[in-house]
Amino acid sequence: MTLIWMDFVLFALLFILFVYVIAVNRITQTHKVYLVFHFIMMLWPLGQFLIRLTDTPQYQLVFINVSFFAIGMLGPCWLIFVLFLTGKATHLKSSRLFLYIAPSLLCVLLSIWNPNYLFMQPVGGGYFDRVYGPLFWVLILIQFAYFFIALMNMFHALKTVNSLNQRRQLATAVIGMFVLTGFGLLDVLINVLLAKWIPVVPGLLALGIVLSTSCFVIAINRFGMFDLLSLVQRDIFEHMTMGIIVIDDNDSVLEINQSAVPFINVEKGSVFELEKFLAPLQAHGEVYEFLYRYRNHPKEKMQMEFALQESVGMHVSIVISPVLDNRKTLLGRIITFHDVSELRELVDEMNRKNEALHERNLELISIQEELFQVNQKLEQMAITDVLTGCYNRRYLTQQLEHEVQLNKRYQIPFSIFLFDIDHFKQINDRFGHLVGDEVIRSTADIVREKLRRTDILARYGGEEFTVYLPHTSQEHAELLAQRILHAVSENIVYAGLEKVNVTISMGVVSEANGDLSFTDTNEYLRELFSRADAALYRAKNDGRNCVVIAH
Ligand code: GH3
Ligand code: MG
Ligand code: MG
Repeated sequence: MTLIWMDFVLFALLFILFVYVIAVNRITQTHKVYLVFHFIMMLWPLGQFLIRLTDTPQYQLVFINVSFFAIGMLGPCWLIFVLFLTGKATHLKSSRLFLYIAPSLLCVLLSIWNPNYLFMQPVGGGYFDRVYGPLFWVLILIQFAYFFIALMNMFHALKTVNSLNQRRQLATAVIGMFVLTGFGLLDVLINVLLAKWIPVVPGLLALGIVLSTSCFVIAINRFGMFDLLSLVQRDIFEHMTMGIIVIDDNDSVLEINQSAVPFINVEKGSVFELEKFLAPLQAHGEVYEFLYRYRNHPKEKMQMEFALQESVGMHVSIVISPVLDNRKTLLGRIITFHDVSELRELVDEMNRKNEALHERNLELISIQEELFQVNQKLEQMAITDVLTGCYNRRYLTQQLEHEVQLNKRYQIPFSIFLFDIDHFKQINDRFGHLVGDEVIRSTADIVREKLRRTDILARYGGEEFTVYLPHTSQEHAELLAQRILHAVSENIVYAGLEKVNVTISMGVVSEANGDLSFTDTNEYLRELFSRADAALYRAKNDGRNCVVIAH
């Protein structure tokens, strides 16, 4: 009696696992495929259990068909599930899917039809005991063929995956497949081949199913086999443009992604030696410092940029980050490699441009400086008389317009000289214009020597000059005028071997304190100069080489 319940208990266990998978997982496409597979596996112990419950041959036949439908679908379902598991789900287009199922499905349908008892023959009027025909063996062989192909796929996947966790998942699933295959073989051996000689052991295959299913459930729940997030994380890790290797606290490489391969030649399980990796670099302070920190401060994050020697122009940024647990114990480190060549090139280009800009700036500054100088020269030229270097009449007039107003406001005395070289025409006639020019220049120089820095000497016209003397009373002006007259008369200019000697006549106008009461500055200046002119005219009339004060 207990033997009857054996299959039921196993069915119940499978059912619990089924519900458990649904309950604790967020169901993805792969979960769904697994659940279909799991459900079909559940049908075997259910069918086996139900056969034992009834004596009616027709019902027994139905339950046997259910059981063998489950067996027949097990192989294809397993293969499809493995394809999903190993990331080959893209192979499963609907037409292909049918091809995968077809051999087994055909066999199952034939078995249900059971022509000429090719599949099985009832013994003693019922199906509880039965004799299997060749179709049974074909069905079993086909299942083994499916298992074999699925196993090959698993082994292949095991060889190619990198992540430790993924290997664990696949390994657990492979163990599950072996367990099921083993129990299946045992069942066929004991309950079919040796059935005549040894008693039937019920539930062998069902036990295998439960054990292998448990393996899958472990793979799903403990190692997160279909966990979407970890699948995505794995995918991101593999396809990141940044090269990543993960090492443990003994520098043994745990993980390395595809992008790290161009940077570093290490394999999973080998020891990563930073010293060796950096050895081809030109050893300089920064490299030493980096290595020192790597060895002596392993819990610090560190970064360095360097040029790879083998590939010219390739700049790599290496970042080493510690992996710490809650107690800040070092578990390992994550080392990333980032190709920063483009960035470096951009930075270099920018620096070059900056430098060029700086040079251009300096050039501009020097041009500006030059312009300033030229401007100053121009300004100077605009107010200077070319022959004598004195101010010109325009400048004097401008200054006076301003000065007389100040003098008026603050009641400051000032004086004006107007002087003209005596008989200059004769000098021109006798010695020529060049000597005439020299006489003009020399006379101006002599006068300038006698003046203060604040006095303004300007060439008024031809050989006529004027001097503005601020803060100068008539008394002082007269004294100075006499001194100038004397100095000019002493001055000698050489025309070849001949000595040229000139005198000047001078009109002086002085404005004493509080004298000024004009309203129109220009009018006042015109009047001032006509007074000076009149004085000069009188000086000429008085015999020249003398000073006349205007009144
Ligand atoms: P006076 O004593 O009355 O002043 O007699 P003067 O000969 O000097 O007469 P006036 O002042 O009228 O003469 C001015 C002359 O100066 C006329 C002109 O030929 C000459 N002259 C004017 N400007 C220049 C100049 O820049 N260079 C030279 N060499 N001669 C000049
Ligand atoms: Mg003259
Ligand atoms: Mg003159």
